[in-house]
Amino acid sequence: QAESAGTRAKRRLGVMGGTFDPIHHGHLVAASEVASAFHLDEVVFVPTGQPWQKSDRQVTPAEDRYLMTVIATAENPQFSVSRIDIDREGLTYTVDTLRDLRALHPDAELFFITGADALAQIISWRDSDELFELAHFIGCTRPGHTLSDAGLPVGGVSLVEVPALAISSTDCRNRVAKGEPVWYLVPDGVVRYIHKRALYAPAQP
Ligand code: ATP
Ligand code: MG
Repeated sequence: QAESAGTRAKRRLGVMGGTFDPIHHGHLVAASEVASAFHLDEVVFVPTGQPWQKSDRQVTPAEDRYLMTVIATAENPQFSVSRIDIDREGLTYTVDTLRDLRALHPDAELFFITGADALAQIISWRDSDELFELAHFIGCTRPGHTLSDAGLPVGGVSLVEVPALAISSTDCRNRVAKGEPVWYLVPDGVVRYIHKRALYAPAQP
């Protein structure tokens, strides 16, 4: 464990990928909990370009999702936002995100933070062997859920219990479309940005 003189501990960098359409307090609590439990120096939020899992629905323009993510994280000195996925052409694959971050931060140890739902898809991701070499995977579960529930291999991933937040972006979008409030589900600045840009409103006749 002892480090030789002059050698500093590796920076521990969390990576929170997501569509963030919109970013909500579930994402923020998960990032905060993992940062604390794994002693991370920083968590980088990485809004996806066109996500391949969601090519069936119209995703809000990347620039809006990026700005909402910036608004939501700006006050936290441990949080930052990266444009690497939205500036890359084509669909977003997690392996590309991690390769690019590895190249940008060659000395950092990467921790990819993901929800239990997304963890279950890990096995189906392309290049999953390389994924586990690039980063440690941390799955956020709700109290009472275990890894075996998702049918995952237990090595290569850790689980963190996040306070049960029944918040999803889908629910936030549906609420806005029905004229219901999203106050306190998403940060105040994100509520205002959604209204300023008229996001998620029902299509005008
Ligand atoms: P959608 O409803 O459109 O699928 P979402 O709420 O799942 O959106 P994403 O942007 O797809 O949000 O999620 C990004 C990451 O955050 C994923 O790994 C997801 O599992 C995780 N996540 C989403 N909601 C929560 C939550 N309430 N608590 C913890 N993690 C969450
Ligand atoms: Mg989701």
